[in-house]
Amino acid sequence: MKYLATLLIFTLVSCTLTKNNNNLSDLKLEALTDSIAAKYASSILIKDLYKDLSILASDEYEGRETARSGQKKAAKYILERFKEIGVEPGAKNGSFLQTFGVDTKNAANIFITLNGYKWNLLKQFYYKGNIKDTSLVDKQLVFAGFGIEEDIYSDYSNINVKNKIIVINEGVPSSINLEENWDSWRKKAELAKEKGAIGVITIDKNFTEESERIGFIIENPNMQMHDPGKRKADLIPNIYISESTAKTFLSKISESKISIEIDIQEKLTSDNVLGYIEGTDLKDELVVITAHYDHLGYDNGEVCNGADDDGSGTVSVIELAEAFQKAKNDGNGPRRSILFMTVSGEEKGLWGSKYYTENPVYSIEKTVVDLNIDMIGRRDDEHDNDNYIYLIGADRISMDLHVISEKINKKYINYDIDYTFNKRTDPNQFYYRSDHYNFAKNGIPVIFYFSGVHKDYHKPTDDVDKINFNKVQRTTKMVFFTAWEIANRDQRLRMNGTD
Ligand SMILES: [Zn+2]
Repeated sequence: MKYLATLLIFTLVSCTLTKNNNNLSDLKLEALTDSIAAKYASSILIKDLYKDLSILASDEYEGRETARSGQKKAAKYILERFKEIGVEPGAKNGSFLQTFGVDTKNAANIFITLNGYKWNLLKQFYYKGNIKDTSLVDKQLVFAGFGIEEDIYSDYSNINVKNKIIVINEGVPSSINLEENWDSWRKKAELAKEKGAIGVITIDKNFTEESERIGFIIENPNMQMHDPGKRKADLIPNIYISESTAKTFLSKISESKISIEIDIQEKLTSDNVLGYIEGTDLKDELVVITAHYDHLGYDNGEVCNGADDDGSGTVSVIELAEAFQKAKNDGNGPRRSILFMTVSGEEKGLWGSKYYTENPVYSIEKTVVDLNIDMIGRRDDEHDNDNYIYLIGADRISMDLHVISEKINKKYINYDIDYTFNKRTDPNQFYYRSDHYNFAKNGIPVIFYFSGVHKDYHKPTDDVDKINFNKVQRTTKMVFFTAWEIANRDQRLRMNGTD
């Protein structure tokens, strides 16, 4: 029975390929291909969406912060689901993971010893700037006034700072009218380096307050996507101490020895998870479906579970992979290839999608669309029922896409599509705020599926129990039918302004 059904379906699908075949009326044919699509759409189940989301958005996944252990766990979970579903590894070398470098700092790994006495971070010293890792052992110190040099005034005229660490006062001498502005610590550090010094220690009159303020920045370092083209940290160590600490050695500075050991630059990695289904007769062309699985990690010790943002999109992509793989297993696989890609680094600045589009696994020129799903499980304050979805971007690059999306909605979903955020003048500018943008930037037509912001947005309270799974299912089906149409139609989406 199953075999026969498959054979019949195959025959009918083949008819769509040969336009002059008139065995069936176009209408009947359309109805049949629609019913094939509907069959696989019906495999998108609330219980599956719920199961995946209740795992990915549980505390165990620690808010899935990029490059941290929660993100790694989530990547592994998605990868295992892709394997179970049976989609192929979508990254290079038979891998499901596309990995990129992330740079951050491990603030604690700076050790200073003066005359055998160890200084404690934030108690005896703090530091500023993107200093590079270095090891300075038993170095000499020299006092260099304010560390300033101009035509009429120089703190460097009578001292030799070569291969030494200078100790300076903060600010400028009050008795002299200087031409330049020396408020910038960078300027002093650069001058010191130019003079041959290998470190700067500044005496800070407001050490206690300032170390508290700086402490937060040191303990919560920013991450950056690793960019090999970017210049690395090249500042010499720039250390701040209190007046009382300075008093312990200034009088015997010439006999003092200091060691500074810095190992704070930390190299991490993050991953996109890629599942792939190869198309049939148009397999060189690619439909991409994306959602970001990373989130914010912890907020003051509380886990930000990110059930809606973007756990909802992530589980949707998993279900879409399953629906299309089922179709493929039955011999109804898509004509164009499909990449199911859950990305990371979105919350840090759309890193994963940026990395993919700059290091694509499949031809960008042959990528026909990106359907991006980011936050589809809640209702915002603008609506008093759930019968809506925001669509963003659909008409901007290909009007064909907009027309298809509208048609699919009328036929299968019947949402009141809300285009508020698609207006170019909308102050939220959501068009630039999720992963589809990196595809749009490359001229690829996109749709961003979105149910809006809510009071739990980016808070530890974005939890699974607040998710409307009916809505997640309905939107997932909308993406499914849209992807199905784009993957199977004869003609590739036309770009606006072309024929
Ligand atoms: Zn977010």
